Amino acid sequence: MKGFGNYSKEIMRHFTDPKFVGEIKNPDGVGEIGNMKCGDVLRISLKVKNDKISNIKFKTFGCVAAIASSDVLCELAKGKTIEEAKKISNAEIIKELKGMPSIKEHCSVLGAGALKKAIKNYEEKGNSNS
Ligand SMILES: [Zn+2]
Repeated sequence: MKGFGNYSKEIMRHFTDPKFVGEIKNPDGVGEIGNMKCGDVLRISLKVKNDKISNIKFKTFGCVAAIASSDVLCELAKGKTIEEAKKISNAEIIKELKGMPSIKEHCSVLGAGALKKAIKNYEEKGNSNS
């Protein structure tokens, strides 16, 4: 199957069948971020257990690129330690999606930003073991 329009097959797979959509009840950390360009809003909630991200979900009012990159971000982040998760970069997300039309790159940066905010929120709550 070929990609849809300018989107890669990977992007369409994550867009049509995202695995991490939703919201976690009583999350340990929440991060919300938006961009003005296409009005994407992304909210990430996560659970932390033994310093690892045990569960992570996202909710978005976003475009195809925002949904696909958020789903990949969750896939990458789940099971990682807080320190590892902090290092997840936009480039990594795009690589995982086999490329992103450059006009849509601003959408893919949402995920990494929201995750950083959620982690910060978690750390500010004082749940951190450190
Ligand atoms: Zn967008």
